[in-house]
Amino acid sequence: MDQLPADTLRIPVEALTALVRDVFVAAGCDAAESNRIATHLVGANLAGHDSHGVVRVPRYVEWLEAGFVVKGQDAEIVTDGGAFALLDGKWGFGQTVAPQAVALGIARAQQHGVAVTALRNAGHIGRVGDYAEQAIAAGLISIHFVNVAGSVLVAPFGGVERRFSTNPVAIGVPLPGRPLVLDFATSLVAEGKVLVASSGGKKLPEGALIEPDGRLSTDPHTLYGPYDAVGPRNPSNGLGAIRAFGEHKGSGLAFMCEMLAGCLTAGGTSGPINERGRIANGLLSIFLSPKHFGTQAEFERMGLVYADWISACRPADPDAPVLLPGEPEAQRRVDRTAHGVPLPQETWSNILATATRLGVKSPL
Ligand code: NAD
Repeated sequence: MDQLPADTLRIPVEALTALVRDVFVAAGCDAAESNRIATHLVGANLAGHDSHGVVRVPRYVEWLEAGFVVKGQDAEIVTDGGAFALLDGKWGFGQTVAPQAVALGIARAQQHGVAVTALRNAGHIGRVGDYAEQAIAAGLISIHFVNVAGSVLVAPFGGVERRFSTNPVAIGVPLPGRPLVLDFATSLVAEGKVLVASSGGKKLPEGALIEPDGRLSTDPHTLYGPYDAVGPRNPSNGLGAIRAFGEHKGSGLAFMCEMLAGCLTAGGTSGPINERGRIANGLLSIFLSPKHFGTQAEFERMGLVYADWISACRPADPDAPVLLPGEPEAQRRVDRTAHGVPLPQETWSNILATATRLGVKSPL
């Protein structure tokens, strides 16, 4: 189902996961954390979200080396209200501290029927749908609002200056045999999609970016400024911005992500000042247990009937059936697990350059 550029390589899942794991071990993380990071990043590629996959390896390693993200941290409970808790990720890897916050939320929702966890100061947590899937596996509905403290990339509706981060929202619904995961950035494209496009991957949709003079753009240089063919990209070098999706509606949702994941957690907003000199994700998660609401059987019955009705909608294009949230990811997972993860040559070269610098040999 992927339409891939000619220079795309297909890397077997196990070999890719092993390489990424070895890179993080060589960078100083312990085996368990390295494995979590590798599994999460490769999992994002398998779901089709290459923007949040292994393309991030060089940047994650740089952040670790610069001390922006700290290995071996555990999320610490700051406030514990039983059905709600505030946790501090202490700048640990998002792939470590976010699953810990989600695990706490799951445990508390299983106790109380509903729970809210607020996590601040988490390193990049990656693909947020992963955490909705963690809750689905426990039979829970979950809703996640995310911000990126200290990162301004997205212009608000009607503006040309960066004000928001890409602020994703995710909702997971555990219908039996039909897990539903809605998971998207409130920017018209995730920053990682600009990263992927800058490395020869999928091109950006029309109007994804905006220049300081208000012209719309699809050129990654709008965000990154000048960059070398191979090597890291720095969004602070560009003058333009990503646009919020859905005009005033997406822009409003992005604003509320800052309020919920940035202000309520006290982890900080995108701006105006990056007081700490590094970026971190804030994550506000709400967990709901259908069992506790006493409606589990009806929820599942009605949910499945409704999902089937939506799927049966006559498609505008007979070759493109109507899909439910999470179905494109599930389809890609099947394809990519069988045929390997597609990576543009440049992304692969960047990962190998980082691996070689750390003395790690590619298993391929
Ligand atoms: P996207 O635009 O690809 O949208 C994905 C969502 O839309 C999924 O729920 C998918 O199931 C659904 N979808 C896609 N095509 C569909 C179709 N044809 N029919 C029905 N549903 C469809 O996602 P995005 O905005 O590019 O975000 C990509 C990833 O980036 C997400 O996983 C997000 O969590 C992640 N992200 C993370 C951060 C962070 O700071 N950690 C920031 C931004 C984005």
